Amino acid sequence: MKKIILSFFLLTTVAVNAQRSCGMEQKMQQIMADPIQKEAYLKSVQNFEQELEKLNNRVYRSGETTENVNATIRIPVAVHYPGVPNSSAAATKTCLRNLAQTQINRLNADYNATNTDVTNWNNVSSLFPMVNGVGDMDVEFVIATQNHPASSGIANGTVAVTFGTDYLNGFDTDATWQGYVNIVVRDEGDQTLGYSVLGGSPSQGHTVVINTFCFGSGSGCSGYVPQAPYNLGRTLTHELGHYFFLEHTFNGCGETNCAVYNVNNPIGDGVCDTPKQSTPTGGCPNPTTVSSCTSTPTQRALSMNYMDYTDDACMYMFTPGQVTRMLAHYNSIASQIRTNTLSNSEIVKNNFTIFPNPNNGTFTIRFNDLSDDYSVEVFDISGRIVFEDYYTQSSNLEQTISIDKPSSGVYFVNVKSGSSIITEKIIIK
Ligand SMILES: [Zn+2]
Repeated sequence: MKKIILSFFLLTTVAVNAQRSCGMEQKMQQIMADPIQKEAYLKSVQNFEQELEKLNNRVYRSGETTENVNATIRIPVAVHYPGVPNSSAAATKTCLRNLAQTQINRLNADYNATNTDVTNWNNVSSLFPMVNGVGDMDVEFVIATQNHPASSGIANGTVAVTFGTDYLNGFDTDATWQGYVNIVVRDEGDQTLGYSVLGGSPSQGHTVVINTFCFGSGSGCSGYVPQAPYNLGRTLTHELGHYFFLEHTFNGCGETNCAVYNVNNPIGDGVCDTPKQSTPTGGCPNPTTVSSCTSTPTQRALSMNYMDYTDDACMYMFTPGQVTRMLAHYNSIASQIRTNTLSNSEIVKNNFTIFPNPNNGTFTIRFNDLSDDYSVEVFDISGRIVFEDYYTQSSNLEQTISIDKPSSGVYFVNVKSGSSIITEKIIIK
């Protein structure tokens, strides 16, 4: 009995104490060794580089800023538990669906810099003069709810969480789930917390793999209990960074041009506002004591960055340069993403911008895409309609609205499409 207890204790401590370890590099070696996979990868790199150049040279139209040029990006996610039989009890599946949602909540906080611990940055930012604040991607990850693959057997209105799906074809891809960002949660042993390809492709059905003890947060489910220090869901924050073409921050000191990332000889991370760093930072270090390639203040290791190896509780930020890189990758794969897997109300809610705001009574509504006709109503604060019109879906992704002789104040804009109505507040000056 004593021996059994001891063994259990050892097993537990191995998982808890092991330094964070990510399998991205091994995954990329596997891809580069396969001619077909390598060709697809190099093609995606080319597309990515073109989009990055466009972002870096972006000319903004009147009323646009870097903040409102794109509406919030919406990304449908499917979560797969291959080790859980589809015949499992309903309560087991419900628990695992809820666990998946805790993980999605974590992604949405971290990728939008709305995580509560991001305020820690204020205490240390002066140590990192080359980092111009915290990056915010303006993205929403949603577990898809509509138009699932027919063979999945998942009904409309039910979240895309599968049980017993086989992802063991060697490259962790699945043609069935093309168009989604796929997360696979499975036992990868004690050492690897997770892995992703660098620059994931929805059309290839690429998956991000996360180990069973570091997926989501909270008390977890039987066999899927988040374990400290990897119990806040940040393993996926890190791995999804790889999916969006982020390298580790600790990818060497030898880069000659911080903005260039050579996939055939990868040194550095292609990002200019992350200090050079040659070895990963583990545990929970004091940022003032962690030196990087040099010990000068501008080159302190950015140990709180999601792309380092620190514990979940001690990483809390992307840099703006990393976010630009992720947006460039998103732009290169946006056409591969199946947004019809999100409900219409989800699409409408987050798929348009109103600018400028405040305005003088004339403003523009712009949609990223649209699956239905729509109408626009503008109310003043007393509920009086001051504008209304109806538009067909085709070729009306952008509408300029002018209110006749407006007085200054707060107004409400209702955008109706299908069965959903979304209200946005504007201010007329
Ligand atoms: Zn990694």
